[in-house]
Amino acid sequence: MSDRTEKHVGICPLCQTEQDLIQSHAIPAGVFRSLLKGANGAPPYSISALKTLITSRQYQDFVFCQPCDNLFNTNGEDWIQRQMWRPRGFPLLEKLADAVPVEEFRDGYVFETAGIPGIDSTKLAYFAVTMMWRMSIHAWLGADGDRRRFNLGPYQEPMRRFLFGVGPFPDNVVVSVYVWPDKARVLTATYLPKPEETYPHHSYSYYLPGVTFVLNAGRQMPPVMRRLCCYRGRGNPICTSAKAVAGSIRFVRNISKNESGDDAEHARQWASMESQSDCDWFKVLRHRFRETTAAPPNC
Ligand SMILES: [Zn+2]
Repeated sequence: MSDRTEKHVGICPLCQTEQDLIQSHAIPAGVFRSLLKGANGAPPYSISALKTLITSRQYQDFVFCQPCDNLFNTNGEDWIQRQMWRPRGFPLLEKLADAVPVEEFRDGYVFETAGIPGIDSTKLAYFAVTMMWRMSIHAWLGADGDRRRFNLGPYQEPMRRFLFGVGPFPDNVVVSVYVWPDKARVLTATYLPKPEETYPHHSYSYYLPGVTFVLNAGRQMPPVMRRLCCYRGRGNPICTSAKAVAGSIRFVRNISKNESGDDAEHARQWASMESQSDCDWFKVLRHRFRETTAAPPNC
């Protein structure tokens, strides 16, 4: 049995040296804390999500050394945990409230964060890379006894070098960030990063309250995907998208069906969450975007 005083010496996968390893998390502990706080008096669907997150809470092990864990915190985790949805607010969404989108697509809008104070796109990208990379270097043990891990192939080492601060942002890796458009209908849940089925490139996603992160890797990616990378894309873009929202909701809905059933009331709540393309903010954005791109008067 291990306890807090016992030493766990081993090779830390980030600095690749022998170190005292500390209790490390596949999902930042602060994400769980905020969800547990939010469960009191939060919308009813958080009951099933809460069960999911308690299960997921077991995803921890002695993996990283303290200095490497500190790197994760300083370069991304601390910041994103202050920006995500919490019961008392959603700072990242609030920072976008007055912004004018630069692009409109079928189910959402694109913002260039370079001109928006208080949005740190480097931290968003770093955080997304840490989340996916962690899943590739360790098989995280869940409460169900299953270990989960995925293979990042040739992208794993360039990601490690970037995270450790000894290499550039990896080539042919793209991070897209999707902010949920309606803070009243945010899914109060989280899950371990998961691979998506995509070909010819590879795709992985992670969700924490109010923000969906997608990391794509591969030489053959459509140009639009590269353009929307929050690290390398012009103006460090981030998006809001009803489609990204629906994808995360469907995944959690499937998990929680097994735990709490999916009766008519639950189904109504899920449907309400999924239909965020009808939110008031999208109406404002549509107006704002069309106003800025309207053709000048012909005089
Ligand atoms: Zn280390």
